[in-house]
Amino acid sequence: MSTDQSVFPVRIRTARKPQRCDSYPPCPGIEPGERYEDHRLPPGNIDIGNRHWIRHKIHYPRLPENGPDGCTLAAAYREHQRREQAAA
Ligand SMILES: [Zn+2]
Repeated sequence: MSTDQSVFPVRIRTARKPQRCDSYPPCPGIEPGERYEDHRLPPGNIDIGNRHWIRHKIHYPRLPENGPDGCTLAAAYREHQRREQAAA
């Protein structure tokens, strides 16, 4: 069984357009080509009592077993790209 603590289905997707990232603390957002977790919670969850679908999009991996999380990785990658462009 999965050790993920979330109780609702999660899909790993690759962004085709810029998206909000629902991480905390907030990150600048999900850029095209970056992977994110698409969390969907159907209405009527007993613990939360939500009446509508809840969706969260968060950089993948949100909860890495070791190493930095997806938001940190994305930020580091962007910083690397900025330096490469500055050096060109
Ligand atoms: Zn993020």
